[in-house]
Amino acid sequence: MDMNRQVMLSMLDAGAGRPWDLCIIGGGATGLGIAVDAASRGYRTILLEQYDFAKGTSSRATKLVHGGVRYLQQGNIKLVTEALHERGILRKNAPHLVKDQSFIVPNYKWWEGPYYGIGLKVYDWMAGSLGLGPSRILSREETLELAPTLDAEGLRGGVLYHDGQFDDARLAINLAQTAAEQGGVLLNYCKVDGFIKEASAIKGVKATDTLTDRSYEIHAKAVINATGVFTDTILKMDDAGAESVIAPSQGVHIMLDKSFLPGEAAILVPHTDDGRVLFAVPWHDKIIIGTTDTLVKEILVEPRALPEEIDFILQQIGRYLVKPPQRSDIRSVYAGLRPLVKSKSKKTAELARDHLILVADSGLITITGGKWTTYRRMAEDTINTAITKAGLVNRPCVTPDLPIHGSGRTKAAWKAFGVPDAAQTAASPPPTDFHAPLYYYGSDKAAVLALAREDPSLAELLHPALPYIKAEIVWAAREELCMTVEDALSRRTRALFLDARAAIESAPVTAALLAKELGRDADWGRRQIEEFRKVAEGYLP
Ligand SMILES: Cc1cc2nc3c(=O)[nH]c(=O)nc-3n(C[C@H](O)[C@H](O)[C@H](O)COP(=O)(O)OP(=O)(O)OC[C@H]3O[C@@H](n4cnc5c(N)ncnc54)[C@H](O)[C@@H]3O)c2cc1C
Repeated sequence: MDMNRQVMLSMLDAGAGRPWDLCIIGGGATGLGIAVDAASRGYRTILLEQYDFAKGTSSRATKLVHGGVRYLQQGNIKLVTEALHERGILRKNAPHLVKDQSFIVPNYKWWEGPYYGIGLKVYDWMAGSLGLGPSRILSREETLELAPTLDAEGLRGGVLYHDGQFDDARLAINLAQTAAEQGGVLLNYCKVDGFIKEASAIKGVKATDTLTDRSYEIHAKAVINATGVFTDTILKMDDAGAESVIAPSQGVHIMLDKSFLPGEAAILVPHTDDGRVLFAVPWHDKIIIGTTDTLVKEILVEPRALPEEIDFILQQIGRYLVKPPQRSDIRSVYAGLRPLVKSKSKKTAELARDHLILVADSGLITITGGKWTTYRRMAEDTINTAITKAGLVNRPCVTPDLPIHGSGRTKAAWKAFGVPDAAQTAASPPPTDFHAPLYYYGSDKAAVLALAREDPSLAELLHPALPYIKAEIVWAAREELCMTVEDALSRRTRALFLDARAAIESAPVTAALLAKELGRDADWGRRQIEEFRKVAEGYLP
C-alpha cells in the first residue's frame, strides 16, 4: 500500500458511496492502534487526525515499553501484569523499534538493595516467559562499571533490571503504515468538527482537510473518539452536557548529551522529592531525563515546560551524578499531557494509568487513559465494544501475531531466521543492531539507503550535530505522509527532541528538500521555516 496522501484522499472519495464500518477520530497511539486492529479484522476503516500522527502526547513519552515499576510500588498488580504481557507482544511484533534496556536502581541506603531487589524479582516473575532478562543485585564496583558517572560517595551498590524502550513517533508512523497495508485509510491534517446525526444517533462525522480547506461528510457505522487529552471536547461536541472525564497532567523531559551517562544502562531514581520515580535513559545517543507530574487546566497542542519543572529535574538527577547537569547543558526540553482518567482524588500522581471505554447515548464510543505500552490491548477492547454496539459482523482480533510495518517479520522472514512457529516469542526476535545507522527503519532501511546511493547528495548529514541524512526527509515525504517541516524534524526524524537548536538550523535545508518532493514553491518553504522556528523555540531550555 502506497502511503501517499493523494491515494488516501482518492480512497476516501471512492468510499463515499457506502458507510465505513469504523471512523476513528485521533491519530495518536490509541487511534492508530484501533485502526490497525479494525483494518486487520477486515473492517472498512478510516482514521482522521487533526494535525500529524502522534503530534500530541504520543510523541512526548519517556519512550519506555514497560510494566511500570512505579505501579508495582502502588500495588497495581493487574495493570503491571497486563502491561508486561503487552511489552512482550510489542517486542515480538516490532523488534526493529523495541529494544531491551537495562536499568540500574542505585542504592545509597542499606535497605535499598534488598527492598528493590525483591520488588524487581516480583516484576521478573510477573513478566513470566515474556521477560527480557533476570534482575540482579550489583556490587558497588559493578554498579560503577556500568554507570561510571554515578556519584560514588556513599554508594553501596545497585539493582539491575530490564524493561523495553522504543521510539514513540516512529512506532506511530509504522502503525499508520500497518493499518494502510491492511486496507485502512489514514489522513493527517483532517480535523473532525462535527457529527452527522439522525434522530440523535451518530451516523458519521463532518471533517475539514486543513491543507486544502475542503470539507467532507463521512458516514460510518461506528465512530470512535480516541483523542487523548481532547476527549472531553469531542464528548461535548456530541452532547454539550457531557461530563468531563479527563484530568490532564503535564510531564516534562530534558535531553542531555550522552557524556552525562555514558554506557548502555539507564538509571531509575526510585524516590523523588514528590514521591515519584525519575528516569535517565539513553536514546538515539543522547540521554532523556524525566518526568514531572503537574496538574494543568489549559490543554495546548504545544504544551510548554515550566521553569520550575526543568529545575526540579536538574536538581533530582544532579544528586546522583558526579557532574550535575546545568540548564546550559540541555539540548532540548519537551512537555506532554497525560490523558489521565479523572477520579475523585485531586492528586494526579495517585490516578492509575488505566483505560476507560464509554458508550454515549448517541452511540459515540470513547476510549481514553491507558499508556503507549498497552495501546494494542486498548484497541482490541475498543473494537470488541464497537462490534457489539454497532452490530458489526464479529471477527476475531489478530494483532497479537500481526507484524508491524518495518519489522520484516513476515512468515517468510521468520522462516529465513529458522525460527519455528512455536518459538516465535519475545525471546527470539530477528536481531536488530540498535547501534547501526538508520536501524529504526527496520526493513525499510535498504530503501532509504538506496535513495542516498542514487543521489549521493542525499547521503549528506542534515546537520553536523544530528544523526540524520537528507535521504530521510525525501523518504518521509514519499512514504510516510510527511507534510510539513515540523513533521519531518519532530516525528519522522526526532531532530527537535534531540537538539532544538540544531533542528532550527536544519529547517531551511529540510524545507528545500520537502518543497521539491511535495511540489511547493519557495514562499511555502519560507513560511514553513518560520512556523517551525516558532514551535521549536518552545523546546529551547
Ligand atoms: C510525559 C509522559 C510520558 C509518558 N511516558 C510513557 C512511557 O514511557 N511509556 C508508555 O507506555 N506510556 C507513556 N506515556 C503515556 C502515553 O504517551 C499516552 O498514554 C499515549 O500517547 C496517549 O495516546 P492517545 O492516542 O490516547 O493520545 P494523543 O497522542 O494525544 O492522540 C490524540 C490525537 O487526537 C487528535 N485529535 C484531537 N481532536 C481531534 C479532532 N477534532 N479531529 C481529529 N483529530 C483530533 C490530536 O491531535 C491527537 O493527535 C507518557 C505520557 C506522558 C505525558
